[in-house]
Amino acid sequence: DGRVERIASTIRVIPDFPKPGILFQDITTLLLDPQAFRDTTDLFVERYKDKGITVVAGVEARGFIFGPPIALAIGAKFVPIRKPKKLPGEVISEEYSLEYGTDKIEMHVGAVQPNDRVVIVDDLIATGGTLSAAAKLIERVGAEVVECACVIELPELKGRDKLGNRPVFVLVQAE
Ligand code: 5GP
Repeated sequence: DGRVERIASTIRVIPDFPKPGILFQDITTLLLDPQAFRDTTDLFVERYKDKGITVVAGVEARGFIFGPPIALAIGAKFVPIRKPKKLPGEVISEEYSLEYGTDKIEMHVGAVQPNDRVVIVDDLIATGGTLSAAAKLIERVGAEVVECACVIELPELKGRDKLGNRPVFVLVQAE
């Protein structure tokens, strides 16, 4: 219906950021087009509104931009999944490997309950390491990851493989 094409056209590609050789997909230019931003959240809302979703979990930092409008529109809780030492309460954490070294994400204990049905939102899936760590956090508390939702996928990095059978839904495939 033309919405995905418009969204794709607003994403700016910046070479050599944050380091040489990386083609960075910049979503801040999508946010400058109110219609594209609206269409982005609408496409997710249309997909999830009647699926009994009780939690939208947003991954720091850009999952905090796209997650909350979706949560509000479908009447779900919003749960932030954050970088280490940001959340003030008791947390559970999950480590994952990067190209060099490891990273960690955390979630508040009690934010997600065993009967929750969760959609995890981030701006982009590359290797899938971040989303699979987020999915493990949610599954550790006994809740169900219904789907992972991203604006952009870098298909060459095969991030879906790391997610196993957890479904991944994306709007735009980057070259
Ligand atoms: P992964 O863990 O799948 O390898 O990397 C995905 C994470 O890194 C996401 O949280 C995403 O925000 C960030 N990321 C990696 N590459 C890019 C990029 O080109 N553009 C943006 N906006 N985020 C990226």
